[in-house]
Amino acid sequence: MAEIDRKGLRKLVEESLQELPVVQYAWLSEEEIPFSDRVREICESECPRCGTSWSCPPGVGTVEECRNRCAAFPEVFVFTTIAEVMDAADMEETLATRAAHEEVTKEIRGIFEKAGYRTLALSADSCAICDKCAYPDAPCRHPDRMLPCIESYGIIVPKLAEKAGIEFMNGSNIVTWFGMILGRFGEKRADGD
Ligand code: SF4
Repeated sequence: MAEIDRKGLRKLVEESLQELPVVQYAWLSEEEIPFSDRVREICESECPRCGTSWSCPPGVGTVEECRNRCAAFPEVFVFTTIAEVMDAADMEETLATRAAHEEVTKEIRGIFEKAGYRTLALSADSCAICDKCAYPDAPCRHPDRMLPCIESYGIIVPKLAEKAGIEFMNGSNIVTWFGMILGRFGEKRADGD
């Protein structure tokens, strides 16, 4: 496949957004992604999924390893979708809106891939594909479908939003979901290895 340059990829992705419920988006460079070990500390102290899934620490690797993985991708697309809920503090209701966001993430990943780009896609919250994650006894059952959580990579999402010029929050009972697609021309998907 003839290489589609950065301008061509961006045009292709942006044209497709007219058909997708993306609220805001931005293109960043890999150097602009704000990594911090501090995020990992929050995962460990506050998230019950930490240590229970391939999509979370330590299954995704160290923050340094995650940073190095991202460094192989010169194209960084950040976007948000939103969902209105009755009560944003109701985790069950909030998490029920995540599937629609993940579908959008996969759609955009597909656009990168059709253009011949290898991708690394990150989404929101821990993977919930299997009733019980195979971690740590066996490899991930669906590495091509699983989307690691953005925070699991040690990325500070409020800072990412600031760098991208994207609203971190959109209202009291509006859930704002962030997604990232990283790409580079050639080869197959990185998160499906
Ligand atoms: S697809 Fe299954 S095994 Fe893989 S991270 Fe998700 S829940 Fe775990």
